[in-house]
Amino acid sequence: MRASQLFAPTLKETPAEAEVISHQLLLRAGFIRKAAAGIYTFLPLGWRVLKKIEGIVREEMDRAGAQELVLPILQPAEVWQESGRWDLYGEEMFRLKDRHGRPFCLGPTHEEIITALIRSEVNSYKQLPLLLYQIQNKYRDERRPRFGLLRGREFIMKDLYSFDRDEAGLEESYRKMYTAYSNVFRRCGLKFRAVEADTGAIGGNFSHEFMVLAETGEARVVFCPSCDYAANVEIAQSIPQPIETPEKELPLKKVATPGKRTVEDVCAYLGVIPQRLIKTLFYEADGQLVAALVRGDRELNEVKLQNALGCWKLKLAEPERVKEALGVSVGYVGPVGLNDIPIYADLEIPYLVNAVAGANVDDYHWVNVNPERDFVPAKVVDLREVGAGEPCPQCGQPLEGARGIEVGQIFKLGTKYSKALGATYLDETGRERPIVMGCYGIGISRTMAAAVEQYHDEKGIIWPISIAPYQVVVIPVSIKDPLLREEAEKLYEELKAEGVEAVLDDRDERAGVKFVEADLIGYPLRLTLGNKTLSQGTVDWKWRGSQEEQAVPREGLARRVK
Ligand code: ATP
Ligand code: MG
Ligand code: MG
Ligand code: MG
Repeated sequence: MRASQLFAPTLKETPAEAEVISHQLLLRAGFIRKAAAGIYTFLPLGWRVLKKIEGIVREEMDRAGAQELVLPILQPAEVWQESGRWDLYGEEMFRLKDRHGRPFCLGPTHEEIITALIRSEVNSYKQLPLLLYQIQNKYRDERRPRFGLLRGREFIMKDLYSFDRDEAGLEESYRKMYTAYSNVFRRCGLKFRAVEADTGAIGGNFSHEFMVLAETGEARVVFCPSCDYAANVEIAQSIPQPIETPEKELPLKKVATPGKRTVEDVCAYLGVIPQRLIKTLFYEADGQLVAALVRGDRELNEVKLQNALGCWKLKLAEPERVKEALGVSVGYVGPVGLNDIPIYADLEIPYLVNAVAGANVDDYHWVNVNPERDFVPAKVVDLREVGAGEPCPQCGQPLEGARGIEVGQIFKLGTKYSKALGATYLDETGRERPIVMGCYGIGISRTMAAAVEQYHDEKGIIWPISIAPYQVVVIPVSIKDPLLREEAEKLYEELKAEGVEAVLDDRDERAGVKFVEADLIGYPLRLTLGNKTLSQGTVDWKWRGSQEEQAVPREGLARRVK
């Protein structure tokens, strides 16, 4: 590519709306342009980086035995109604109607549509296991689209779905994906960590997030320097201040007070460690644990509840377990704030105005409860506080904390979707069984931004070579000088012949201007041709990430670069 022809409009000024460095640099260096909030055009340089990341992802998915397909973006409501998520998904889903008034959505994810496909195409154990994936746009009407590619409303994701006969098969698929994901992020040159996303889950780790460590990350992780323990810490958007002196004139009917229950009691009962509770507020009255709240976004609620309580698939199916463990009846406390979803048992309870809370006895509730007034937050178990410095739950060493960007997540789904949509197969004995599923996502466009968050300096981007838009830039200090021009052209042709992706800066600009731009764009290697060095038979070689420039022999240079 010749710089004179490259469509990479750079900006001198940092755009005001860009809060994080990846957003700023990708705009300034001419990789992306904004079309609307959270919606971006990928310019040629940006598109090249995306294709590099996609290429690595494809290779690793294929190596793991997966097959690529493409599922529709435009999805009929029916399949979402079957899974029950049409109503649950909420405002994050882009919805639309066709000319006949039939409801559709733009796929925020593809579990439903692929399960419907498998339902009609797979019927025998002989067809399993299957790993199917696509790389494609996703649509989520995020409440706060921001940080450029990090949180878009249209973004590119690789999503893979595994279909197995049983749990053991799923375990195997999950393990393959864990390895593939580690390979992907390592090959992208990123510093990352796989963290337990669903801490303390019964039956082992059933979700991992892959976090690129970066100061601007929206997620927090804790990890152990001595063993392999690492966990996600989601930050509560707002934690209410503990109330110093609660009024005790309660319009409550308290019926009975069985044995004392504290956070520790509950944790012991559940077999989870208090440190592993995330974003959970326990409320206490008269020394008894009477209520618990989990704070968080509605859409993440289920996961957060699982995180918080460490073990429950907290669906209506299991209120008994909750009741038993917490000593509270199925009930509700709230509303505390817009982002608060009370736990107890029923996730689907909307924001009720009238609050009730369990009263430590079956079928009795506190009525007209005002949590802030009536309950003292006995303990705020928030990993912001118990994260760094706390003993590792595995080995006891003090944990370290870091910020991270979630670039991928892998999840054991089990039979949730296959049961809801009726995706079954016949086993060896002719018995009908639900297919056991997993899902696995990588944010391709987010990974591109995460790389910039990790690799930049005050001059611009420093691309890891495996995902750089071009690997080398060739800069003749003057293009007017016929000898320099000819030598630069020759080197450029040689590089191309060796299969090196090179840009020749053939513009009639001062060398200084070219250097500044090359640093901003972030080409990993810069080769500069000047009269003096050329007369000595050398070219100046400089890595973008290093301060040093080195004279290297012109002879055999292209092969050396390769
Ligand atoms: P987040 O917690 O950041 O909202 P998520 O957990 O909702 O992400 P998943 O449903 O797990 O996301 O999707 C898989 C991957 O898709 C994520 O790990 C992330 O890399 C990417 N991703 C999700 N939402 C966005 C977005 N709005 N913009 C860009 N990438 C995204
Ligand atoms: Mg999300
Ligand atoms: Mg997430
Ligand atoms: Mg996720």
